[in-house]
Amino acid sequence: MKKIFFIASAIVFSACGTNKNVAEVANTEDHAAKYAATITAKELGTHLFTYASDEFEGRNTGEPGQKKAIAYLKDFYISQGIASAIGGDDYFQEVPAEFLNKRKRQEPLKDSENVVAFIKGTEKPNEIVVISAHLDHEGIKNGKIYNGADDDGSGTVAILEIAQAFQMATKAGKGPKRSILFLHVTGEEKGLLGSQYYTENPIFPIANTVCDLNIDMIGRTDERHKSDPNYVYLIGSDKLSTELHKLSEEINKKYTNINLDYKYNDENDPNRFYYRSDHYNFAKFNVPIIFYFNGTHVDYHKPTDTPDKINYELLENRAKLVFHTAWQVANRENRIVADKAIK
Ligand SMILES: [Zn+2]
Repeated sequence: MKKIFFIASAIVFSACGTNKNVAEVANTEDHAAKYAATITAKELGTHLFTYASDEFEGRNTGEPGQKKAIAYLKDFYISQGIASAIGGDDYFQEVPAEFLNKRKRQEPLKDSENVVAFIKGTEKPNEIVVISAHLDHEGIKNGKIYNGADDDGSGTVAILEIAQAFQMATKAGKGPKRSILFLHVTGEEKGLLGSQYYTENPIFPIANTVCDLNIDMIGRTDERHKSDPNYVYLIGSDKLSTELHKLSEEINKKYTNINLDYKYNDENDPNRFYYRSDHYNFAKFNVPIIFYFNGTHVDYHKPTDTPDKINYELLENRAKLVFHTAWQVANRENRIVADKAIK
C-alpha cells in the first residue's frame, strides 16, 4: 500500500515538473521522512510486549515493577548511545518520597525516578524540546496486575522509537538544531507528580523549554471512532502558541494524514483532559504543549489493558506525527512563540 503510493506520487511529480525541479528534489531529500520510517509497528510491539508484561508488575510508583521499567528505559538509551540529560550514566532524576507524600496518602509512596535522556542540538543547544510520557501505572491491586499497555506503555515505547529515529539522524550528521529531552515521568497515576517535580526542579531552565509534546495513550481506539480508527485527540495545541497549532496541522497534512479530533480541546468539555496529564505542569509555566490521546475505552484503568489489544499500525502512525512535529519544532529557523502566554 505505502510503496504503491510513493511510486505513484513520484511519477506524477516527475511528469509535471521540469528536470531541474526533479534534480532539486533529489538534492533536498526529506530527512524527516527518512528517519520517521524507522519508527515501526514491529519494534513498538517488541518493546511493549516486554514493557507491559506481567514481569513489570504494573509499574507502580516506587515499587519493584517501576524499578524494572526504569532499568529497561535506561538500558535502551545506553544501547542506542543516547546520552543522559544529567550526565554520565545517571539517567534517573530522583523524585524523593518526601515530595511524593506531600499530600497525605493511605499508603505512603517510596522514592521514585523520572528517566531523562537527551540529544544535544547542533545549532541552538540551549533551547529544549521536551517529549514526555509517564512511565508508571497502577501496579497490582487485589492480586491483579494492571499492565497499562495503552496507559501509558504506548506513549513510553513511542518515545523510545522517536528517540531512536532522532539518534539515527544525529549519527548521520542530520541531528536536530535544538536539543531534545526524552522525559519519562513517574507518579502520573498518583496525581501528575513526576512531571510536577520535573517542572519545579527542571534540569534545563523552563524559560528555555520550547514546548512539551506529551503522549498519554495512543495505541487504542474509543467508541466514538470505532468505524474510522485513523484519528487522535489533540488537546491544548492552540492554548498557548498559535504557531505550534498551525505547524502541527501542516505537518499532519504533509506526513501522517490523521483525523485530528479537537473534541476534548473544548474548554467546556466536562472531562477536562487538558488538566489530567503531565503536559499540564508545563502549560502552567506557559510552555506550549500538545497532548496526544486516543480517548478512553473499556480497558481503561483495568487489568485488561494488555499489549495484545494495541493496534500497532495506529500506534506507529501516531508516533510518527509526534516525531515529525518535534522535528519541525526543533529544526525551524525561529523558536515557536507562546503568543497566548498568560502573564
Ligand atoms: Zn496515563
